Amino acid sequence: MSEIQTPTPRDAFELLLAGNQRFVAGTSEHPNQDAARRAETAPSQQPFAVLFGCSDSRLAAEIIFDRGLGDLFVVRTAGHVMGPEVLGSIEFGVEVLGCPLVVILGHDSCGAVGAACAALEDGMTPAGYVRDVVERVTPSVLAARAAGRVESEEVLAEHVRHTADLLLDRSRVLADKVASGRTAVVGLRYRLADGTAELVASRGLEAAGIAAS
Ligand SMILES: [Zn+2]
Repeated sequence: MSEIQTPTPRDAFELLLAGNQRFVAGTSEHPNQDAARRAETAPSQQPFAVLFGCSDSRLAAEIIFDRGLGDLFVVRTAGHVMGPEVLGSIEFGVEVLGCPLVVILGHDSCGAVGAACAALEDGMTPAGYVRDVVERVTPSVLAARAAGRVESEEVLAEHVRHTADLLLDRSRVLADKVASGRTAVVGLRYRLADGTAELVASRGLEAAGIAAS
């Protein structure tokens, strides 16, 4: 990447936030999207963040963070639920590509979270593999309810935090990177209507002065 050669986790986070603020303000610069960047990055990639978000069509990563080619290593599943392929992809971004930041991106009005809430209320689970997605969101909804958080925004924040904890619990590679301060994990709650991304989870950025629950 051109701005910073070897970004710290905090540098990477601030780069991402700055892009989101441009997007929100309607002043996107569309960096790294030209032919020169395409040629520059063709031999190798050095993205500054792994973005693990919901597949929702309104969460297009490079658009909402105003970035371009070679900037973000993106992994997306409905409801940002994870299995072995997701964990392996995130570990690849952190271990092989050296990304200093892993971002979990959830959003309001998430269909997967809504389906998990509905399944708990009416006892009906969807057919096919959609069921797997819903079942992997359910523990977050249960945890939110147990803590008395029932508003949809609170449930979503709980799911983002739960995803961050699960990621660090499952991936030794990532946990070691965070423990050593080389990588941080942050969770963001995105609002579809205004495009803002709010920090709701932070693992490893605290030392840099950015704290969240
Ligand atoms: Zn979603």
